[in-house]
Amino acid sequence: MNDYDLLVVGSANADLVIGVERRPAPGETVLGSDLAVHPGGKGANQAVAAARLGARTALLARVGDDAHGRLLLDSQRAAGVDTGAVRVGGAPTGVALITVDPSGDNSIVVSPGANARLTPDDIRDAAGLFARARVVSAQLEIPLETVTEAVRARAAGSRFVLNPSPPRPLPAEVLTACDPLVLNEHEARFVLGGDGLDGKDPEGRARALLALGARSVVVTLGAEGALVAEGGGTAVRVPSPRVGAVDTTGAGDAFTAALAWRLGRGEDLVTAAAFAVRVGAAAVTKEGAQASFPTAGEVAAL
Ligand code: ADP
Repeated sequence: MNDYDLLVVGSANADLVIGVERRPAPGETVLGSDLAVHPGGKGANQAVAAARLGARTALLARVGDDAHGRLLLDSQRAAGVDTGAVRVGGAPTGVALITVDPSGDNSIVVSPGANARLTPDDIRDAAGLFARARVVSAQLEIPLETVTEAVRARAAGSRFVLNPSPPRPLPAEVLTACDPLVLNEHEARFVLGGDGLDGKDPEGRARALLALGARSVVVTLGAEGALVAEGGGTAVRVPSPRVGAVDTTGAGDAFTAALAWRLGRGEDLVTAAAFAVRVGAAAVTKEGAQASFPTAGEVAAL
């Protein structure tokens, strides 16, 4: 019995954003705008994106016993995410300190905080949740050994989706579980290490990732949509609808969540990606990350 369409295992951060005329040089102090605090982190973003689309979603993450942790839990619950497995305490909630200048360029410092304390034991303690999830989705803002334990904890027949961000080379046990590995071109280069640097196009990178062991690969291409590659067949380009992009923050998280949900409903990878590009495109038409994620109705209306 699958009570959950999607179990997201990942990070939860408070994004602290200050607008500045100019980002400070070393040793310099600059004055900025009022502080804005937004719920973020790739795990929290994916869970909210899926739930807003209508997926029965649970989040396994760790936040601090503090105001940022409560903000994150509130935003999950408001979207309809089951937060029963979110661990509280052990370190302050993860924070991203973001300064953004008028051209939109930013500088970011991340304090992983509680995210770095989400342990393999936390995964083992949540065995009951894994048994009830059709799809498990993870990213790399939590320790790699915790992601590896999530691969092991999956129920037989449940699918594993990974967005390797921030990117790094992956152990074979994780890579061979990915169905699919979802990543942008920058991440693909990092996951491939030296192999990714020698002038390969997106299809070449996707093929190289399949050769390394991923079961399937989806390379996101921003406004160009996505490229889907599975063993054997030719890679398929899935174009994104043309939209007026306002803010691309969180687009990849919305895309991945939508893809994971639809795969769990039994859609093939190309069909699921065709839905996910619409979700990603809808997300870039609004400011913010979680605030920009569409409902199913908004995707249909796009
Ligand atoms: P990331 O944010 O991880 O780098 P992308 O920028 O590739 O990921 O965006 C993820 C998805 O969001 C894309 O596959 C696409 O569907 C959608 N998207 C992103 N930017 C745009 C855009 N400018 N116009 C339309 N869709 C977009």
